[in-house]
Amino acid sequence: MSKRLVIALGGNALGKSPKEQLSLVEGTASTIVDLVEQGYDVVIGHGNGPQVGMVNLAFEFSANNHSGTPAMPFPECGAMTQGYIGYHLQQAVERELARRKIDKPCAAVVTQVVVDKKDPAFKHPTKPVGMFYSKDKADEMAAQTGYTFVEDAGRGYRRVVPSPLPIKIVELPVVEQLVKNHCVVITVGGGGIPVVEKKRGDYQGVAAVIDKDRASALLALELKADMLVILTAVEQVAINYNTPQQQDLAQMTVGEAREYIHQGHFAPGSMLPKIESCISFVENTKNGKALITSLDKARQALEGMTGTLIVKN
Ligand code: ADP
Ligand code: MG
Repeated sequence: MSKRLVIALGGNALGKSPKEQLSLVEGTASTIVDLVEQGYDVVIGHGNGPQVGMVNLAFEFSANNHSGTPAMPFPECGAMTQGYIGYHLQQAVERELARRKIDKPCAAVVTQVVVDKKDPAFKHPTKPVGMFYSKDKADEMAAQTGYTFVEDAGRGYRRVVPSPLPIKIVELPVVEQLVKNHCVVITVGGGGIPVVEKKRGDYQGVAAVIDKDRASALLALELKADMLVILTAVEQVAINYNTPQQQDLAQMTVGEAREYIHQGHFAPGSMLPKIESCISFVENTKNGKALITSLDKARQALEGMTGTLIVKN
């Protein structure tokens, strides 16, 4: 059986605008197809922070300025970003597969991810999205809509949405079938469209952003992947990051990773969720390993030459 890789793509694989994204995905696809060429079954997850913020902001601005455009609910904005990011990625992967004469399909799956409506994150939304408002306007909208607004770095008031934990990937059986048939699959885009399960099989979108590294770890676990690969802006994870004592790590055990978390080596908004995702995957699989490295070093890192490998013991 070929080895399964679940790859979580970071923001630097996609860039800041649709135009930049369209050109960046070429390099991303080249790395992905390198791995396909080496015989791996590849499943791709990706973020959508900047993209969902942008789509939401555009609709909000438009709806607020008498354009006749309806307000676009937040989960729908997430679904839109899954769609166009998936479209760019699959197009680039298909092009690269064709160029190398590899006869494999690639598909992006619109994917819902169930969250718990009692998740404490709903009481403490943290992720700012959309436009800036005056305090009065924010108060008025909060009363009308129930949205939460917070003051954002002196620039005004901004809506915040929660970042709950992923519990279940709704379209997992479809993804499983595609992977079994050696299709390159793009799924849990932006961490997945967050939904709550009202009754068995009855889902409803909620305004939230699921962390893409956590959703990818759940995906890797459910697919019994051989490895979770998190591709980000740094080649290796470090302790004492950004200090004269910085020490890049080639490998750490789950126990060491926990100790480093305890010592505060990983920034909460960036590296910490990655390390926690790796721990949860490695700990809950028999032989699974996790790897954190940069997009351009992915191939070398999979050969053990660089990157940071997270192992059980
Ligand atoms: P992504 O879009 O890939 O999720 P993030 O910016 O969220 O990217 O996370 C990657 C960033 O984490 C790196 O660019 C780096 O600046 C930061 N970082 C924080 N702590 C560490 C650490 N201990 N070692 C390496 N990078 C770290
Ligand atoms: Mg991140």
